[in-house]
Amino acid sequence: MIPTVLPTYNRAPLSFEKGEGSWLIAADGTRYLDLGAGIAVNALGHANPDLVAALTKQAGRLWHVSNLYQIPEQQRLADMMVEKTFADTVFFTNSGTETAELAIKMARKYWYEKGAPERIEILAFEGAFHGRSTGAIAAAGSEKMVKGYGPLMPGFRQLPWADMAALKAAISDKTCAVMVETIQGEGGIRPLSDGDLKMIRALCDETGALLILDEVQCGVGRTGRLFAHEWAGITPDIMMVAKGIGGGFPLGAVLATERAASGMVAGTHGSTYGGNPLGCAIGARVLEIVSDPAFLAEVNRKAALFRQRLEGLVAAHPDVFEGVRGQGLMLGLVCKVAPADLVKAGYAQHILTVPAAHEALRLLPPLTITDDEIAEAVRRLDAAATALAPASSSV
Ligand SMILES: *Cc1c(COP(=O)(O)O)cnc(C)c1O
Repeated sequence: MIPTVLPTYNRAPLSFEKGEGSWLIAADGTRYLDLGAGIAVNALGHANPDLVAALTKQAGRLWHVSNLYQIPEQQRLADMMVEKTFADTVFFTNSGTETAELAIKMARKYWYEKGAPERIEILAFEGAFHGRSTGAIAAAGSEKMVKGYGPLMPGFRQLPWADMAALKAAISDKTCAVMVETIQGEGGIRPLSDGDLKMIRALCDETGALLILDEVQCGVGRTGRLFAHEWAGITPDIMMVAKGIGGGFPLGAVLATERAASGMVAGTHGSTYGGNPLGCAIGARVLEIVSDPAFLAEVNRKAALFRQRLEGLVAAHPDVFEGVRGQGLMLGLVCKVAPADLVKAGYAQHILTVPAAHEALRLLPPLTITDDEIAEAVRRLDAAATALAPASSSV
């Protein structure tokens, strides 16, 4: 008999009753160190007092009114985002997938309004993850995501990851847009180098193609800058944001330049829940906290500490780990064993991690993780690795 919850997930036999900062607490009181943070969602940890206060204050006033009316909380968050980023304008969603849909629509509409409706092709990359809608799976194109869901939305082509020669060969003045994660998350914590990002920007500028950066996972302070592309000193035309921006409340946003958004006039797009007062009040608090230079400096300091400890872990378990990659607190431990086995071994040590693409263990802790918790995380990962491959030494 089919389970009452549609069985589309492979769930671990764990559940939690309560969260506190970097910890999740099971009904029997067992405390798990959470290095998944709801897949980079709980950017400020569980039950963060500032966010609880922002939520409860707004919850007692107004949750939802629909976009038929002015929404001051939405206006405020949009103004903050425009002030802090490349963007001139923002559309709010409830998830990352919805940002992919709008990014695709916006890019195609741009060329339609410019009198080039045939300019529909969007270049994406293998290993990408942009969400689960029919548009987002067509963009990512992997067999695993699209199988059985045809016919797929046409107009997408996937290039080998970070292959600049392939991009040079594929892009032309017929290309609508290039859509890419600044750092691939599901694809295995695979960053684009600053040089590659500059090259992608330059190729888009030469051909007129719009650059869509998917920062749903790597954005909102995760890499130690407010958005990951800032490290390379480039800006996109359109950016997808979700996950961390709500700190656990469902919230996403598409940020765009005035030029890229020029086709999106009244009636061309909408959402019932998107930009509701409750989500935007929380998002504004998250953005206030994360965009503080002192907060980001702490993320960078802790990231350097964590990375150094992880390099030690890799050196101590050469039969389990191959190396560390990523940026800031978006780290991948590249594995020689199946990452899913390590995740499972971690459960026994009461530490939560996330596998990525059969090759890496993803570490996406709350950005508020403490130095002591980083040390504790490395101890527990060490124990998990030892349990998997008892021959290796210990850090
Ligand atoms: C999670 C994710 C999405 C999809 O977001 P949902 O909120 O699950 O719809 C899109 N792009 C990237 C890079 C993601 O990590």
